[in-house]
Amino acid sequence: MATPLTAYLLDIYTALRDAFGHQHWWPAETAFETMVGAILAQNVSWTNAAQAVRNLDAAGMLDPCLLAAAEAGDIAPLIVPSRFYNQKTKRIREFARVYVAEYRADPAVMAAVETHALRERLLALRGLGKETVDTILLYACGKPVFVVDAYTRRIFSRYGLLPEGASYDRMQCLFTENLVPDGELFNDYHAQIVCLAKTVCRKTPLCSRCPIRVVRGPLRCAGARA
Ligand code: SF4
Repeated sequence: MATPLTAYLLDIYTALRDAFGHQHWWPAETAFETMVGAILAQNVSWTNAAQAVRNLDAAGMLDPCLLAAAEAGDIAPLIVPSRFYNQKTKRIREFARVYVAEYRADPAVMAAVETHALRERLLALRGLGKETVDTILLYACGKPVFVVDAYTRRIFSRYGLLPEGASYDRMQCLFTENLVPDGELFNDYHAQIVCLAKTVCRKTPLCSRCPIRVVRGPLRCAGARA
């Protein structure tokens, strides 16, 4: 499935991995922790979400059956650091109920479901958007689904590959139509994008320090030319 952009996207990934090293995502002990973390990370920094995950763990609540049966008042105080904690209480409890009822609280059972069907089922849950669901599919279930976030949009729009306002689906297709569906690659590629955006391609980019500014391809980064 090689396309004119395949080698270019792989060269970008290689340059990032050489600079930052493999990122070994997702930072969690269990698949369920990854799922909960993906929901708690909505619209908040990972630092805040991670604190909420730690609070759940310390309270012995990082358990799908316990979360599914819990009162909202038992969950919300623990996840205050994730902000929007009342909304997120409903979301993680609803997710836990579905995870227990439909997938026996077993990540292998969930991962065995055909990818498109599983994605549609999770997208039907209130408050779970494409980025959250794709994060669960990739990092908890090992599905070859590319996760798009604001950092992806920032970096690849600066490259001029897509406009900054490109839709989630269009941005995702940039990767899925030009790369073989490889869960390992997609896992670390997204992690590298996050690392680049946090350290170098920030709101004000530090282009002179960017490991991908010299990648040869059909387009060169606008930031590197500046
Ligand atoms: S060269 Fe500059 S604008 Fe382009 S990806 Fe690197 S830091 Fe971002």
